[in-house]
Amino acid sequence: MIDIEAKKQLICDIGKRIYAKDFAAANEGNISIRIDQNRVLCTPTRHCKGFMTPDDICTVDMSGQQIDGKLKRTSEVLLHIEIYKHRDDINSIVHCHPPHATAFAVAHEPIPNCVLPEPDIFLGEIPISAYETPGSQNFADTILPFVDRTNIIVLANHGTVSYESDLETAYWLTEILDAYCRILILAKQLGGIKYLPLQKGRELLAMRKDWGFSDPRSESVDAKENIADFASFKSSWTQSEIEQTAFASHPSAANPSQVPPASEASTQGSLHLSEQSIELIAQRTAEILRDK
Ligand SMILES: [Zn+2]
Repeated sequence: MIDIEAKKQLICDIGKRIYAKDFAAANEGNISIRIDQNRVLCTPTRHCKGFMTPDDICTVDMSGQQIDGKLKRTSEVLLHIEIYKHRDDINSIVHCHPPHATAFAVAHEPIPNCVLPEPDIFLGEIPISAYETPGSQNFADTILPFVDRTNIIVLANHGTVSYESDLETAYWLTEILDAYCRILILAKQLGGIKYLPLQKGRELLAMRKDWGFSDPRSESVDAKENIADFASFKSSWTQSEIEQTAFASHPSAANPSQVPPASEASTQGSLHLSEQSIELIAQRTAEILRDK
């Protein structure tokens, strides 16, 4: 027997956490839990997620129709329903607008792998879905190319959605992603990121597998493709208008089979230019050409 009141309370508790973390300003964001094959508990529209009581939580059916609750259900429930329809293993969803991950969403900047261990192990490769007007079925459909290959998606010009079998873990994915994006933005201000050597990235992917997470990159590792170069989701970039601008590709992206490990590279005295140096050279070249 499901304790529906306890589930409603859990939604309120996670609501407090996303509001306290600034992941959902004012009345933004929405949370849901699937309680059986045809019923989903979800947050109400136009209601701050930091101050909900179990009484405020709505119930909808799998078509998004409201079947219980005094407040009107979130307009973004269609996104939640689409995820539940495609994933039998998922029973909890968090959608919000965490500022650092959303910065990547508005910049259309892909989130790099092979930089920090935790995001690589717990999140894996993170896709960015194409933009659509929120609340519509078209918006819900934007996640379809990725929904069964990841448990977290960045929504272009919008926010994030993460999903798991339980709500606490679904929320964790969002928290890990936003902390990671914050670190990336801070590191950029210090001059940029240093990628892990490819072999170390492969070790993290193996750990991800050991922890029981499936990852589309696992297949390409066997084929000796470049796991750091978004082997699985890169093909979606053109349609979503995603482009690497702020963060350059992993150094091995150009030709993974010919790049020596980092330790070897440093003893060979090979030339490494920072992004700023390259920008300066480009600027200087443009000035010289202009002066001619
Ligand atoms: Zn939203």
